[in-house]
Amino acid sequence: MTIVDLGVPSAAPPSSAPTDGPLIDTFGRVATDLRVSLTDRCNLRCTYCMPAEGLNWLPSEELLRPEELTRLLRIAVTRLGITSVRFTGGEPLIARHLEDVIAATTALRPRPEITLTTNGVGLDKRAEGLKRAGLDRINVSLDTVEGARFAAITRRDRLPDVLAGLRAAKAAGLEPVKVNAVLDPVTGLDDAVALLRFCLEQGYQLRIIEQMPLDAGHQWQRGKAIGADEVLDTLQQHFHLTPDTAPRGSAPAELWRVDGVGKVGIIASVSHAFCSACDRTRLTADGQVRNCLFAQRETDLRQLMRSGADDAVVEAAWRAAMWAKAAGHGINDPDFVQPARPMSAIGG
Ligand code: SAM
Ligand code: SF4
Repeated sequence: MTIVDLGVPSAAPPSSAPTDGPLIDTFGRVATDLRVSLTDRCNLRCTYCMPAEGLNWLPSEELLRPEELTRLLRIAVTRLGITSVRFTGGEPLIARHLEDVIAATTALRPRPEITLTTNGVGLDKRAEGLKRAGLDRINVSLDTVEGARFAAITRRDRLPDVLAGLRAAKAAGLEPVKVNAVLDPVTGLDDAVALLRFCLEQGYQLRIIEQMPLDAGHQWQRGKAIGADEVLDTLQQHFHLTPDTAPRGSAPAELWRVDGVGKVGIIASVSHAFCSACDRTRLTADGQVRNCLFAQRETDLRQLMRSGADDAVVEAAWRAAMWAKAAGHGINDPDFVQPARPMSAIGG
């Protein structure tokens, strides 16, 4: 089914989710991209994500067991039409079952594309094994290449580990290696220029992401974070940027060619929301389906599975969750309410 009238329903949709076919919502968007959070724990404390003291971690009995997660991945791929799976967290490299889950996902048919978002700490020792397990590509988060700023933003002095992780990812063939950056409101524009220079030199693809109201402390303020237009203006003062003409599809990044040697992506999640083209569904480490980063409601698949539900029932619950997806995240609406879970507990 192809529905292109995104965001504006042309007729009243049926009142309940279809029982088969694509994983669709009432606005006609089809979810094919699954984000799986493997843990809510992390070894960094990025200011825009976690408080310095960490959070109350999910109790272990509430986390999906590996066999429960594998079951949900199978349902997603074989019954719901998921074609790409991104593992994230918290920090996915601290989830001990990461390689096993990737290998199990690799064995699914049709085999989905498998990617990972990580802070890169410890990646130097894991990159080859991840590639062997079936990982296709990787995004490593890095907001600055300046050591003191890195330590201030992440509250940990681990820049050399991340740089080693990036090198190992490239050497292992997890390419194109992408670098995700969320910019500091004060130093971020300088960081963006230095990061782009670094990424061009090393052969990584930089993605600059607008900061969203998903910090644990609810400190995000409208208009304080650096916007995509400002980033673009600044980069244009230092590099020759031309729009990448390849079709963008549902990809959130607006891509630019840089000096004829590389590319940079700018993800304007707040200032130019791309909700109308969203193709994502999310699963938290405790087995809750979220139809949006900013959803106020979740659907508890863990409880359903533990109460003996068969695959058809779990599938129907997942479909119903996505059917209820809102048209947009509403960040720019006056009555916007930040979700209770921070980014680290949802999975970015
Ligand atoms: N720990 C891993 C990492 O940092 O890559 C994976 C989880 S982290 C939540 C995933 C991505 O979300 C990272 O690229 C991070 O920069 C981004 N992120 C976290 N908090 C954010 C926020 N408030 N706004 C925008 N992006 C955020
Ligand atoms: Fe950890 Fe990633 Fe959040 Fe930073 S952004 S605190 S690395 S989960």
